[in-house]
Amino acid sequence: MAHDKLKQEVCRANKALVEAGLVVLTWGNVSGVDRASGVMAIKPSGVGYDDLIPKDIPLLSIKTGEIIEAGLQPSTDTPTHLLLYQEFESIGGVVHIHSTYATAWAQAEREIPCLGTTHADHFSGSVPLTRPLRPAEIQDDYECNTGRVIVERFAELGLNAADTPAVLVRHHGPFIWGENPQSAIENAIALEEVARMTAVTMQINSQALPCPEALLEKHFLRKHGSNAYYGQRSGGASSS
Ligand SMILES: [Zn+2]
Repeated sequence: MAHDKLKQEVCRANKALVEAGLVVLTWGNVSGVDRASGVMAIKPSGVGYDDLIPKDIPLLSIKTGEIIEAGLQPSTDTPTHLLLYQEFESIGGVVHIHSTYATAWAQAEREIPCLGTTHADHFSGSVPLTRPLRPAEIQDDYECNTGRVIVERFAELGLNAADTPAVLVRHHGPFIWGENPQSAIENAIALEEVARMTAVTMQINSQALPCPEALLEKHFLRKHGSNAYYGQRSGGASSS
């Protein structure tokens, strides 16, 4: 059947949240898309990760949000995921979690500053924080408005989704993305670890300064962008 691979990938990615220690109960969801056919697959609402099987994963149209292939009822966060795919065309997987450290920064209403190279390897600067939702935005169309304030913040800061693959939704928690569900999971693991490291650093020194710009750029660009040289290349040359 069409999209079986996408359903398997999204099913596996949701289970990976548990393996990575990023969720308890059912506090997280992962989605993925097939851009060629305009389809999104997402975790069903309220289903335990152990019980999840690919045939239960619902498929929706990225453009209209209509159900294309019914599995179980899609996650309540579906409108946020859809809006991110509509607005950030380079992304292929989205993770939403309430992991302790990243959520603590969101609740403390602080963006996560880039204090060192671990952060700079994954995020091209601070992990941004959205503005508070207004009462009317919470009452109606809440999940879609959550997506809108994310997109609004990226536009205000001139950020692009590929270089900054995460955001903190104020008083709520992080949304993280990547080229596919697996890379979104890796970025989610990186975000939680960086959120923890930064919190510990600021306990040691609450005045800790941001990573110097030159060092930030060096670390980000050696892993990302057209002149990246981190990892293994087909020529066999290696770097650490
Ligand atoms: Zn949430």
